[in-house]
Amino acid sequence: MSFIVAIDGPSGTGKGTITKLIAKEMNLLNIDTGSMYRSLALKCLKLGINTLENKEKIIEIAKNINIEIKHNEENQEVFLDGENVTSKIRTKEVTAFSSPVSSIPEVREIMVDLQRKMAENKNVIMEGRDITTVVFPNANVKIYLDASVEERAKRRFEENMEKGINMSYEETLKAMEKRDYEDSHRKVAPLKIAEDAVVVDTTSMTIEEVKEKVKELIKVQNGNSQNCEK
Ligand code: C5P
Repeated sequence: MSFIVAIDGPSGTGKGTITKLIAKEMNLLNIDTGSMYRSLALKCLKLGINTLENKEKIIEIAKNINIEIKHNEENQEVFLDGENVTSKIRTKEVTAFSSPVSSIPEVREIMVDLQRKMAENKNVIMEGRDITTVVFPNANVKIYLDASVEERAKRRFEENMEKGINMSYEETLKAMEKRDYEDSHRKVAPLKIAEDAVVVDTTSMTIEEVKEKVKELIKVQNGNSQNCEK
């Protein structure tokens, strides 16, 4: 039996940071599904594919891809065909191409399958765009994190500066609006709020406040949550 905490929301809502912290505190396995679509985008770019013109080729790559998410004390590391690509999947080129590749229905099928397998018999906290709606619609806890696009772009801009990724605030905002649009308008598994998900607007909340709120929701929504606490 698995205990599943499913979290969706657009980029820059703090999903990644929050799930990492909660996974540690509540002894859950953290699965960042965006890193899987990013890994596929990276592999395509490495092979010179940067448009959706050759969908069949992208599907073929997705069928044979080997993505592993490994966890150590501090971090989650992503391996693509055995290579540690944790940083490489965060470049602006990979970020921009991850959304188009994720719109291909066959690609989503492969990834959703992988995500369900990764969670088998485990207690997990999984974040993405379609976890509460498609991957685990019956998750024990379903949360949608949101924030204004300006605030999300500000957070991403600051994060990028720390990582040495050179992108102006305006460029970051534009790229985020584009990805928001693509992710919420695609035909298959668009980003949307599941009917029974709890929405948390993080616009004026600190990471610590969001973390505490999400932990509270996990406890309230599942009377057995003590089972998964350290
Ligand atoms: O969450 P992150 O920004 O890393 O995700 C990168 C891209 O992967 C998103 O913009 C989205 O297009 C895609 N994605 C998705 N479904 C998920 C997770 C991510 O389509 N469950």
